[in-house]
Amino acid sequence: MIELKSFLQNEWQRGAGDGSPLHDPTTGEVIASASTEGLDLAAALRFAREEGGPALRAMTFAQRGDLLTRMSQVIHEHRAELLEVSRRNTGTTLRDGKFDIDGATATLAAYGELGRELGDRHFLLDGEGQQIGRSPRFHGQHIQVPLRGVALHINAFNFPAWGFAEKLACSFLAGVPVVTKPATSTALPTHRIAEILVESGLCPAGSWSLLCGSVGDLLDHVTPQDVIAFTGSAATARRIRGHAQVIQNSVRVNAEADSLNAVVVGPDVEVDSDTWDLFLRELAREMTQKSGQKCTATRRVFLPEALIAPTVERLGDALASIPAGDPNDEGVMMGPLATPGQFPDVCAGLAALAEVCEIAVGALPTGEGACGALVEPVVFVCNDPHGTEIVHDLEVFGPAVTLMPYSGAALDAGALVSRGCGGLVATVYSDDIDFTGEILMELAPWNGRVLLGSKRIADHSTGPGIVLPELVHGGPGRAGGGLELGGRRGLGLYMQTCAVQGSRPVLQKILGAQDSPS
Ligand code: NAP
Repeated sequence: MIELKSFLQNEWQRGAGDGSPLHDPTTGEVIASASTEGLDLAAALRFAREEGGPALRAMTFAQRGDLLTRMSQVIHEHRAELLEVSRRNTGTTLRDGKFDIDGATATLAAYGELGRELGDRHFLLDGEGQQIGRSPRFHGQHIQVPLRGVALHINAFNFPAWGFAEKLACSFLAGVPVVTKPATSTALPTHRIAEILVESGLCPAGSWSLLCGSVGDLLDHVTPQDVIAFTGSAATARRIRGHAQVIQNSVRVNAEADSLNAVVVGPDVEVDSDTWDLFLRELAREMTQKSGQKCTATRRVFLPEALIAPTVERLGDALASIPAGDPNDEGVMMGPLATPGQFPDVCAGLAALAEVCEIAVGALPTGEGACGALVEPVVFVCNDPHGTEIVHDLEVFGPAVTLMPYSGAALDAGALVSRGCGGLVATVYSDDIDFTGEILMELAPWNGRVLLGSKRIADHSTGPGIVLPELVHGGPGRAGGGLELGGRRGLGLYMQTCAVQGSRPVLQKILGAQDSPS
């Protein structure tokens, strides 16, 4: 059995005791363990701040971008091996493993490119400088400089590779060292990536640390220049935000939490039209990719009542053509849940929905089958979305979706979507520009991202589930209120915006050209 170590203070360190188990979710076999017991996390954070921070800040954006590009390349060189590690510890099929591993390398590469664009500078100008007094001599300019602390990246179990990379890319490019803490249950892929990166010698000492196992007393040691970027459940986000040391030091916390992502099908959409096909194709993929364990997976679908029956029929056919089972078997397109621990949670969630909804496709799981934590897709229909709270509140983190009727009016659909209290992404399928424009304004305040699906992009759409490095990831309210990625926007979490006031010539001399790189 593999004992996962942590990489702290530039060396591999082993926690005491038996640690927590990591499973192969297909067989249930325990394949590894991880412990952080007895590790000196205060010293680890100090080392990152004192060694890693200065090393990264000494580099320009272009140099840090180059580092990210090379990290992306070296991880990509181990792609086949990482796909196998991903299958073993998270039950991914080949396509789902690629989604995580290639997503990681693509995001690092995208931020590498952004670093090149930002160029040979150590700080950023934020907007144009402006006259702030009666005389043009008195001038103001916002700048952004890297924080002097360390970024704690606490990740969820579902994306051990991409989750590490999307957070690290922004932090490194901003010039802030990182401690990555993957979810213990699926830490094996992140751990292997760490071994690869440590062997490569690319990262300056202290710039990247890895904590495998429970979070321990990590948060007791945060200081005012540190940042916490968290992905996981709303309950844990609340605990982190409420931690005494976090409150005492006003430590920035970015949270990506639960989300009941919605789809609205416009009243203009006809069965068998290009837009209808796009809707069905993307819905079937969202339900089954990573076995529905994506924070961005569609959970609620609002349609004109007449479209519910044809959707059930065609979605049922589409799901039947996606074989579920052992990811080792060629031809299987959907594997088990990523951890055995998720199985009872998902079963309980499905049972709770079944109490108030009709099961239109699939059935409730009857117990662990031959293939570990496998859950077959389930499509629910709820005929009273206005009067049924649980469909807007309970996120079943698996291959399940609820279809619900709405009146066909944008205002009605918008009101129903907002019952989720804030989402990561919402999707509209419509070719009616007036309906699309109206509903966009209803959805945008409640969602971090809105995909407008139509026949015009039917051949190009990546679907709502794919998070792109150029576009922001995060959503208001229940979704955690966070903002990650979005190109340069993602650096903001790790930088201090400072308004500088003074003599215009002095500012120009110190800060250089007044134009801000895009
Ligand atoms: P979780 O139980 O909240 O755990 C997330 C991370 O927090 C893990 O690394 C966990 O470590 C750590 N953690 C647990 N207790 C902590 C504490 N008191 N202080 C600091 N960190 C702590 O969530 P999960 O079960 O891994 O993930 C499932 C949820 O995440 C789903 O509900 C899903 O909606 C959400 N999610 C959201 C996004 C997004 O981008 N918005 C993405 C993926 C998942 P251990 O593993 O060691 O316990």
